[in-house]
Amino acid sequence: MTAHASSSSFPRIWLITGASRGIGARIAEAALAQGDAVVATSRSAESITRRLGASDALLPLALDVTDEAQARHAVGAALERFGRIDVLVNNAGYGLLGAVEEATADEVRSLYETNVFGLLHVTRAVLPAMRARRAGHVINISSLGGVRSAAGFGVYCSTKFAVEGLTEALHAELAPLGIHATAVEPGYFRTEFLDTASLSVSPRVLDDYAPSAGVIREAARRINLNQPGDPVRLAQAVMQLVASPTPPLRLPLGTDTLQTIAEKHAFVEKETAAWRELAASTDFPVQAAA
Ligand code: NAP
Repeated sequence: MTAHASSSSFPRIWLITGASRGIGARIAEAALAQGDAVVATSRSAESITRRLGASDALLPLALDVTDEAQARHAVGAALERFGRIDVLVNNAGYGLLGAVEEATADEVRSLYETNVFGLLHVTRAVLPAMRARRAGHVINISSLGGVRSAAGFGVYCSTKFAVEGLTEALHAELAPLGIHATAVEPGYFRTEFLDTASLSVSPRVLDDYAPSAGVIREAARRINLNQPGDPVRLAQAVMQLVASPTPPLRLPLGTDTLQTIAEKHAFVEKETAAWRELAASTDFPVQAAA
């Protein structure tokens, strides 16, 4: 196939990170099934081909999102093949289980390299072409953990809070340029996320955290492969998201995320009300008019 030859024949061109399995693979499959073209990436191009097969609509690429040069190269290859990128899905990521104090500096740094700096590398590489066309949609896969942090997942949730903060700003900066930005917030979905294949578990265990983070360590084992969320349905929801002319800033997915949002809002409202007087006491006194 010649460069750009297929540009107009596909309704949408997607670039998806972490598309070898789990949520990324499901989104890629759904996009291909509806006739779109997909640049599917993960740390190994072979794992993409094994999962998604081969077709004119698919460009499998090796992209470790922690490597900014690789991100630029992948975007260049995507534009060379398809001429444009309509939808970027920043999906590559993994979890870190352990109390905040149990996680080592290296574990924290590695997690941020993938979940936050990796997302930024790919976003910076993709945006110039979207800005040039005044069109596109950046979808950042956040989490229920980007809404409310929890014992045992503090460092992971902090990366998803970063994703939320970046997406909220991107939404404000890109909307005037005709580009959408959405944070998708999945609850617990049945993928390898909680499996030893993906989840990083801090080997340092401190007895003092047994009743908090320790309980979550046990719970994660039980929840693994029993999560309520269906990744196929998640992918269908993402297809509806990109089809909307007015996509939201945030899209929570799963009844567990909906419940978490309700609880978080109720908690913040109650706590803010209890401390309102002190909170309102720190402005300079308003000067009386002369
Ligand atoms: P998964 O089944 O473990 O898949 C993770 C994907 O990320 C794999 O394709 C993996 O590909 C890729 N990946 C990991 N590190 C990478 C790197 N440095 N560079 C490029 N690709 C990398 O997990 P998942 O559940 O699909 O998770 C996908 C996203 O959803 C993550 O951001 C996760 O935080 C988020 N999420 C998941 C859930 C859930 O319950 N499943 C809930 C909320 C949010 P390779 O190993 O082939 O490189």
